[in-house]
Amino acid sequence: MSPKILIVEDNVQNRLLMVDILKIHGYEIIEARDGMEGIQFAREHKPDLILLDMQMPVMDGLEAARRLKADPGTRLIKILAITSFAMKGDRERILAAGCDEYMAKPIDTRQLPVVIRRLLGLEDGHGP
Ligand code: MN
Repeated sequence: MSPKILIVEDNVQNRLLMVDILKIHGYEIIEARDGMEGIQFAREHKPDLILLDMQMPVMDGLEAARRLKADPGTRLIKILAITSFAMKGDRERILAAGCDEYMAKPIDTRQLPVVIRRLLGLEDGHGP
């Protein structure tokens, strides 16, 4: 069975780009449009990994990450933060919120699947 990835991103174009890349790599994809919906879908679908945009309406990525990691039902799900923050201290803030790794926008479409495989522990050649 393919690993399941929840993409939480408010920007439609960014979301479609990530969906396209990850579908090509064989992942099952779930999409959410803001942090609140992301938390809800994480609880419902139990994805293996969450791609979490930091800048979103309703609830931003930092708050969503904190809540996901505080909930025993979702705390073990890997979180890859996607951010256009580039300020000093942002990396520390993102990791302190509970994110496992982060990538800067614009998304590097070659690097994204590599980072995801590493987070999922798939670098040994098994899986998609
Ligand atoms: Mn955004």
